[in-house]
Amino acid sequence: MQQEQHSPAGGGTHPWQPSSWRDKPARQQPQYHDREELERVEEQLREYPPLVFAQEARLLREQLERVAHGEAFLLHGGDCAETFADFAAPRIRDTFKVLLQMAVVLTFAGSAPVVKVARLAGQYAKPRSSAEEEQDGVRLPSYRGDIINDRTFTPEARRPDPERMITAYHHSAATLNLLRAYAQGGLADLHQVGRWNMSFVEANPLRDRYQNMAERIRETLRFMDVMGINSDTAPVIRETQLFTSHEALLLNYEEALTRHDPQTDEWFDCSAHFIWIGDRTRGLEDAHVAFCRGIGNPVGVKIGPRTTADELLRLIDRLNPHNQAGRLTLITRMGADTLARRLPDLIRAVQREGRTVVWSSDPMHGNTVTTDGGLKTRDFDAIMREIRRFFEVHAAEGSYPGGIHLQMTGEHVTECTGGAYRLKAEDLSARYRSYCDPRLNGDQVLELAFLLADSLKQMPRGYSP
Ligand code: PEP
Repeated sequence: MQQEQHSPAGGGTHPWQPSSWRDKPARQQPQYHDREELERVEEQLREYPPLVFAQEARLLREQLERVAHGEAFLLHGGDCAETFADFAAPRIRDTFKVLLQMAVVLTFAGSAPVVKVARLAGQYAKPRSSAEEEQDGVRLPSYRGDIINDRTFTPEARRPDPERMITAYHHSAATLNLLRAYAQGGLADLHQVGRWNMSFVEANPLRDRYQNMAERIRETLRFMDVMGINSDTAPVIRETQLFTSHEALLLNYEEALTRHDPQTDEWFDCSAHFIWIGDRTRGLEDAHVAFCRGIGNPVGVKIGPRTTADELLRLIDRLNPHNQAGRLTLITRMGADTLARRLPDLIRAVQREGRTVVWSSDPMHGNTVTTDGGLKTRDFDAIMREIRRFFEVHAAEGSYPGGIHLQMTGEHVTECTGGAYRLKAEDLSARYRSYCDPRLNGDQVLELAFLLADSLKQMPRGYSP
């Protein structure tokens, strides 16, 4: 099956296939030793049912189109990396709950729908800054996420194992199954979510600051109840829609789960609704861009501090040649000061060329520091500063700050400093559970949502990019 794909920016018309990436430079890929085993696994995955349906990915694309036009807001968050060992219902439930709690606050504040996308059900591969890790004079391949190898520091554990793709598929399927059950089966009831938010506020050291909004949300729900709009009468009160996403890093896996949709004659990567390309793998002529350009899913690209306007426009042309609103999300991650310097030029270039994108802020990756004790962390204030700067720059440029992208969990981990509970560097080791990047915990993300609510309230609606 072939699809004609026109690329104005890079090299005319040529047929695209899920395997088109294979003759391009592919960064951050494991070196599998057993080719036969790899091919057997790929074949098996090609036979497996899709994890999501093309129709769902198209629906998300439509919802992101509304974000691109300033009519909705994107809330994108979840684990840095899921692991097989931490695979358990409470972890998934807590992240689901806190995403919904944030969404209610943001919907209320912004008077606009919030599109919810979780970094869950497939976030098993991680790009690494170094291909090898050294401990006590011994060098071994770096841990690249559970879909590739194991984090135990032994040669056997660090050897990339294709069979792990099958395990990741099954874990993703079970996670998705649970998320769908939570979304439709009562856990997403708005009254329930309102009650959770009240208890968050009541227990919070900064409760005076947040109480007012939580009370107003409760009042609104009571009023709707009186008017007969409740869980029994309106599915919208009882149910929600949550989409899944991950970094499309391991291309053997993504290719094997790509399916042709006969209804629209498009290809969809059915491993998740939304996938993104990381800052380290977004080279214009590289394999990850070559893969993502041909699929119909909405896709994201991380935009780091070194991205130039020219490079960005080429990427946009390559990934969204038909300038389809909702197809492409640009996720900036620069740190507040660099963002203030670099983002205006990028926004102006996109506006000048009439490109329609969703702008989203990842305030995590530009703010990582290492403590004296050797733990990677991020400070809550630095994260908030980058988000505020993102909103200010967009306001100054007449552009729409469409969303946020967070590494977060509903669990009570101690990985990021600051927040209402004033976590300090010396507190981090108490419950530091991440194997890669530090995540905001449940209290910190809710606090972030309440603070962000102020910025959302001031935002104008409806942009024509
Ligand atoms: C990530 O979001 O997990 C990630 C590695 O991001 P980036 O590509 O921005 O470094």
